[in-house]
Amino acid sequence: MTGFNQVTRDIELAQLALYATIVLVSLLVWLITTRVALVPVRDSLVAQKRFIESVAHELRTSLSILKTQTEVAKMDPAVVSLVGDTLNENIKEIDHITEILNNLLVFNRVGTLENIVFDTVNMEVVIETVISRLQRLAEYKGVAVVFEKSTIPLVYGNSAGLEQALFNLIKNGIIYAQKGGTVTIQCLSVTEYNVTLRISDDGIGIAKDELPHIFKLFYRTDSVQGTTTGTGLGLALVLEIIKLHGGKISVESTPGVGTQFDVTIPRRQSGVTTNRQIHEGGMTHDFSTQKV
Ligand code: ADP
Repeated sequence: MTGFNQVTRDIELAQLALYATIVLVSLLVWLITTRVALVPVRDSLVAQKRFIESVAHELRTSLSILKTQTEVAKMDPAVVSLVGDTLNENIKEIDHITEILNNLLVFNRVGTLENIVFDTVNMEVVIETVISRLQRLAEYKGVAVVFEKSTIPLVYGNSAGLEQALFNLIKNGIIYAQKGGTVTIQCLSVTEYNVTLRISDDGIGIAKDELPHIFKLFYRTDSVQGTTTGTGLGLALVLEIIKLHGGKISVESTPGVGTQFDVTIPRRQSGVTTNRQIHEGGMTHDFSTQKV
């Protein structure tokens, strides 16, 4: 019997040693994969980002020269009477391409966590800044931008990134508003972990079948094609920024009635996982690990 117990213990010990070896080997493989094997991938991603950055800068410089020359030509009365309208159209197109490049540049920079500094951010200040940056556009469009003020606790994030995300959402609210419409920004809820902001408008709205696509690169809904100029990059960038923050964004919309985006930003540092849900009348991208 003692001999049998001894054999059983030996087997258990051998099993334990086997498990420990498997765990150690897995850890070693994981270490080698992350530390060594992924280095070329990381390096090539960095090189790719640098390449995009320099190409975009070059193109922007050429476009800016082209725009200046076109504007100078427009000042010559003899030229204007012949091709004035064409020159104006050219300037609009140059502005449009420049906007695409600007968005691409921001998108390119935001995609790397390493260069992004996270700190406490005062969202009240961010919202005020964005509203004042968009004031002229809102006046031009005849749209009111209302910030329903309340005390918003500090969040944890990158202030420039969050400003860019809110800028894109509020700008869209203004652009896709009906004349005389209103874009409202409010703090929807505060929990121990998160702050949720709501950006809503009473604009043209988005059809249900298009909602799952609006965060994709270069996607523009059928209803706006040919009516307003846009790049289809704004919401993709918002999504990327919220993802970097481990936050959450959801959208609900009714065509002809309006659209609302709810953005949840963590108040403290958090890990990031992805959870994408489509629900009745809306769409949610959830990058949080905590309860909202
Ligand atoms: P764009 O430069 O075209 O505005 P975005 O990525 O910001 O690109 O938005 C993608 C598309 O989603 C827009 O073209 C528009 O069709 C739709 N959209 C975004 N925000 C709104 C909104 N507030 N109201 C209605 N449609 C919107």
